[in-house]
Amino acid sequence: MHRFFLPPKAFSSQEVSLNEPGLNHRLRNVLRMQVGDEVIFLDNSGWEFHTVLRQVGVEQIIAEIQYKSLCHSEPRTKVSLYQALIKGDRFEWVLQKGTELGVSAFFPLLCERSIVGDARQISERKLERWRRIIQSAAEQSRRGRLPHLEPLTLFAAACEQVRRSSGLALIPWGKADTPLGEVLQAEQEHRPFNVSILIGPEGGFSPEEIRTAQDYDLIPVSLGPRILRAETAGLVATVLVLYQYGDMAAPPIQE
Ligand code: SAH
Repeated sequence: MHRFFLPPKAFSSQEVSLNEPGLNHRLRNVLRMQVGDEVIFLDNSGWEFHTVLRQVGVEQIIAEIQYKSLCHSEPRTKVSLYQALIKGDRFEWVLQKGTELGVSAFFPLLCERSIVGDARQISERKLERWRRIIQSAAEQSRRGRLPHLEPLTLFAAACEQVRRSSGLALIPWGKADTPLGEVLQAEQEHRPFNVSILIGPEGGFSPEEIRTAQDYDLIPVSLGPRILRAETAGLVATVLVLYQYGDMAAPPIQE
């Protein structure tokens, strides 16, 4: 069944009304949806609204809410992925795959060795594109909430934020001695709710950055003897965390 996230204002107690031209066009002309079709709408609160289309007009689409249920696909462990900006579409790939896998928040990270031109700010157009990538990946993978897309964050600010978030803070680093699995297992008993992961750019973190991270109590961890590309490393670390804490187990039986 098709799923769509909509702004909360689209929802009333009995119906959902869509009047955003792009989405209306998609439902009417691309997906050829008709009166009587069933659709799930999400308001990004973790609930899914099961509806039946009652009106499919050019200007407005109205869906009647049959019932709502809690979405069970959101991970208990909230992974914040601080991913250094990388070139071309590989960052977009991380957003798409990270959403599928269960990342809760993405922080584009700016490091000493980032080589992304003048990346001191990300254009509104690009952010909009990134939000769309996250939204369609979330719809496709049946997420109950949209992962947050945070503003560009400088390395030191990221360390500060991570310390304040009071969860497990990890910085995968090729030269680290401790395997990620060891750190995760040590925390197994009180499965942390928040796990932050910082991933460096193509050129890796500078020694100074690793020192700063340690000052902020981030734990340098190894992802194994092979050096992964930046986009692979972020996703692998995410999967290992979610797997270790039971967030990749079988879904509950759907009613
Ligand atoms: N040329 C760089 C490699 C950077 S890979 C170097 O030699 O350091 C990009 C990022 O992915 C790294 O900053 C690190 O965060 C992560 N990474 C890749 N492979 C890793 C591994 N085997 N263990 C830990 N982190 C790794």
